[in-house]
Amino acid sequence: MSESTQIKGSNRTNTFKRDNLFQTSMKVLLYYQFTDISNPVELTEEMRVFCTKHNLKGRILISKDGINGTVGGEDSDCEAYKVWMHNQPAFKDCWFKEHSVTENLFPRLQIRHRKELVTLRVPVHPKDGGATHIDPEDLNKLVKEHGEDVVFFDARNEIESRIGRFKNAICPNIETFRDVPKAIDDNKQNLKGKKIVMYCTGGIRCETASVLMKEAIPDAEVFQVNGGIYNYCQQPNNDLWEGTCYVFDDRSQVGWNKQGEVVEAQDLDDDMIISTCEYCGCKTSRLVNDERYLERVARVCCEECDTKQDISRMRTKAERQEIFQQQKKNA
Ligand SMILES: [Zn+2]
Repeated sequence: MSESTQIKGSNRTNTFKRDNLFQTSMKVLLYYQFTDISNPVELTEEMRVFCTKHNLKGRILISKDGINGTVGGEDSDCEAYKVWMHNQPAFKDCWFKEHSVTENLFPRLQIRHRKELVTLRVPVHPKDGGATHIDPEDLNKLVKEHGEDVVFFDARNEIESRIGRFKNAICPNIETFRDVPKAIDDNKQNLKGKKIVMYCTGGIRCETASVLMKEAIPDAEVFQVNGGIYNYCQQPNNDLWEGTCYVFDDRSQVGWNKQGEVVEAQDLDDDMIISTCEYCGCKTSRLVNDERYLERVARVCCEECDTKQDISRMRTKAERQEIFQQQKKNA
């Protein structure tokens, strides 16, 4: 849901509390909906009151065009939130992607009213006609039937695609969502005449990005993975995916096994890791912020290098991009 990928702590992936025997059952909800909201400012306040009362944490953006959120809390509170949402005419069809977690993964509740749900520099709205939503099973079928005529296009930030992506996807050098129009333009030649499958974490970025894609390549068939990576990976037959998925909470990433069950960062199998440390080249999908550059760009960095980072070994964005392309070639 954010335009810039960032990691809140340097090694959150290793801070899970495993010794709490009296855990209550908790979950995370991921959702968005484009819908006309006549009173976004009031709604933001009402939602703040509701979520505070139910001790829900996370990030929610509301605009006149809809809502985009990730919230976590106890099962009963998440259920209450879903009921509350579905009782509002604007959100009666809102689709919540959810999964169980062992603790609340958000430090606080941030609810904001924004002018736009997703920030592109060009005015685009899903109502302008986005992609055909394709369900996971149909996506598998499409690839089976059409093979190389199907091209995946990653609408997320480049760093997100580095640790996980659809196999053979085009992963453009996107640093913030505002780079998407250029990324589409740069890849026009690779996309012409193909069946284009766009994807992002939960689907919201594709809703707008696919409008641009259809404008840029008018005769292309454009799909978006229904419910995004979350929905595709959370079921068996998720074979088209490789690696882990960047998430917007304290875990920073999750993986899925072949049964579609979530695998937390500390339990990842070796074959779920497709990236390497930017400094020493060892296999890792561990993400860190690079705060010295004052950019909100995360890096792939192993624990050892994280503790002994040497400024002279810092790589420029262009160098990092080259390493990424090389890794993809070797994969
Ligand atoms: Zn390293």
